[in-house]
Amino acid sequence: MSVALQSGSVAGEAAPTAGVASRAADFPILSRRVRGKRLVYLDNAATTQKPESVIDAEARYYRESNANIHRGVHWLSQHSTDLYEESRERVRALLNAQRSDEIVFTRGTTEAVNLVANSWARSNLKPGDEILVTTMEHHSNIVPWQLACAQTGAVLRVAPIGDGGALDLDAFDAMLGARTRLVAVAHVSNALGTVNPVARLVQRAHAVGAMVLVDGAQAVAHTAVDVQSIGCDFYAFSGHKVYGPTGVGALYGRYDLLQAMPPWQGGGDMIRTVAFEASTWADAPQRFEAGTPNIAGVVALGAAIDYLREVGIERIAAHEHALLAYGTRALESIPGLRLIGTAPGKAGILSFTIDGIHPHDLGTILDTEGVAIRAGHHCTMPLMKRFGIPGTARASLALYNDESDVDALAAAIRRAQDLFDGR
Ligand code: PLP
Repeated sequence: MSVALQSGSVAGEAAPTAGVASRAADFPILSRRVRGKRLVYLDNAATTQKPESVIDAEARYYRESNANIHRGVHWLSQHSTDLYEESRERVRALLNAQRSDEIVFTRGTTEAVNLVANSWARSNLKPGDEILVTTMEHHSNIVPWQLACAQTGAVLRVAPIGDGGALDLDAFDAMLGARTRLVAVAHVSNALGTVNPVARLVQRAHAVGAMVLVDGAQAVAHTAVDVQSIGCDFYAFSGHKVYGPTGVGALYGRYDLLQAMPPWQGGGDMIRTVAFEASTWADAPQRFEAGTPNIAGVVALGAAIDYLREVGIERIAAHEHALLAYGTRALESIPGLRLIGTAPGKAGILSFTIDGIHPHDLGTILDTEGVAIRAGHHCTMPLMKRFGIPGTARASLALYNDESDVDALAAAIRRAQDLFDGR
């Protein structure tokens, strides 16, 4: 197969905010070659690449600051504790939470949702209570609630979406009622790019007395998040999707709620006193951080937040929106390509199917061109069922992508079509 990429530029397009994409130089991995080609990395919804400053922060922590936190009397332990707690303050500022003790460090979004399911849900739900999710949720925002329902007798309900992938707001409102105790909803859908009107959903949910957890895994790197103006009770995100390390993330929880919740994991660091007769718990957030956490990861997450703020989240959002518009037009011009998820105001995710080519085959062929996308159900099997498809191919954008990446994607898709046509 020829390796040359055709030029697929969409004529007459204005360049998206080019200054942002020039930050690609900050990401060492982007200059490596894959299968002899320039790496075109469009799998950012799965995980983002890391800038030098984040890689350095993690390495520097181990070189200069490594010690266990919170329980040491020596200087290094106190220094390490300071770095860890400074990251908590950075997360607070990023989400505009009122207090830094509303931030619990977790392994990521999945663990944050499981924390709420195991602690809040298990201790607050009774048979017949309802948890409301939407059709577009990631498995991480479905399965923990199914487990909580099995344990408590609560019932999982699902608000539908329209054909374009937008939440059906009337149906959502109609499903809220006296039995609804919790709404768990994605801020941004990983498979469709739909941006949910979370502040509005919170208002409606609070009006019936329900709590709201927002899954922000796909939002925090792409849009400014303000948990106070959203008004949510819980907000979860993952470090690795915001240019930070894997294995670290955070849960925001309203302090009064966190403080009233029981621990879900026991061990060191989460206790006040321990006796064989009974133990007592530390205040939030320590109550939810049992054992030695991913200290280096937390510190490097702080560096990722500094990086996001330095580039500017508003600039990133503007850049990605312009590139999404460019990419949408480029893909729409490909015969037989169907975009899945066309909700107005959507985020930088291009999910699609191609007539006659299975998404996995397409992903494999694109890979031979150095173009990294994701193919499959994207951990949203119920959503795929809703659209009557086994999966999609998904290109997801980040701050370092530019039109040449989208052009390479479009050219590689056309090439795959030629290959299939010539079978
Ligand atoms: N929620 C959404 C919307 C996601 O896209 C993802 C990951 O793709 C998750 C939750 C789970 O995130 P993690 O695997 O980092 O815990």
